[in-house]
Amino acid sequence: MLIDTHAHLNFSAYKDDAEEVIKKTLEKGVFMINVGSQYSTSVRAVEFAKKYETGVWAAVGIHPLHLERRNFNYKDDNELEEIEIKTNGEEFNYENYLVLAKNPKVVAIGEMGLDYHHFEEGDDVEELKTKQKEILLQGIKLANAVKKPIIIHCWDAYDDLLEILKNNELEKKGVIHSFVGGYKTAKKFIELGYKIGLNGVVTYGISYNRLIREIDLRDIVLETDCPYLTPVPKKGERNEPLNVRYVAEKIAEVKNIKLEEVEKITTQNAKKLFGI
Ligand SMILES: [Zn+2]
Repeated sequence: MLIDTHAHLNFSAYKDDAEEVIKKTLEKGVFMINVGSQYSTSVRAVEFAKKYETGVWAAVGIHPLHLERRNFNYKDDNELEEIEIKTNGEEFNYENYLVLAKNPKVVAIGEMGLDYHHFEEGDDVEELKTKQKEILLQGIKLANAVKKPIIIHCWDAYDDLLEILKNNELEKKGVIHSFVGGYKTAKKFIELGYKIGLNGVVTYGISYNRLIREIDLRDIVLETDCPYLTPVPKKGERNEPLNVRYVAEKIAEVKNIKLEEVEKITTQNAKKLFGI
């Protein structure tokens, strides 16, 4: 049994068939947490979770890229697919998120965090960084208020994130999702009590084999970040929660252990972290 700890069936990529995908996923014995990236997708994540007795949970938060009005279209260094994201620039309304966060189907705050990868020419970088940090602190405050963990998005900002997590303790800790750093950096987060979220990115070649070998299975949770980051061998298709098994297979292969072991331990980790 596997848990996709970071799915976005609440995104428009599934506007026509989210329910179908959820049903198919549950039938195959895979559970999921749908993660909000702004208020509207957070609300939708909670709505989905409320429809199912078990197997579907929600996380609510605001992704740092949604703090500014932008139109992204990029291909990054890891040969990820081209992604187009339009954002409106949204305020983080603590009280509104608090109402959502109290719902028993909400098992985490997120995704929230720091993204220094997408600054554009003409940006006041220091101002944007300061704003992202302030909102992340609000997220930490919210997580502690409802005693739930946090799902953190972090791109090109691990040092600042470490600093913030060191100085602002989270009672329930959380996960550094879609981790793309080195193993030494990963170990610093693990020392602070955080899990490392691995997804399809680790299947794109050998770049993350060292990371997989160096970190303990007990510190890993699995995810897809669907519809993005489709793992090999499905790359090129829209990603979905069932593909989380390819991430598990890659970890088993690199660590030279049984797939069942990866399933068992990472599922235990997710259940414990998110209280499910
Ligand atoms: Zn995500």
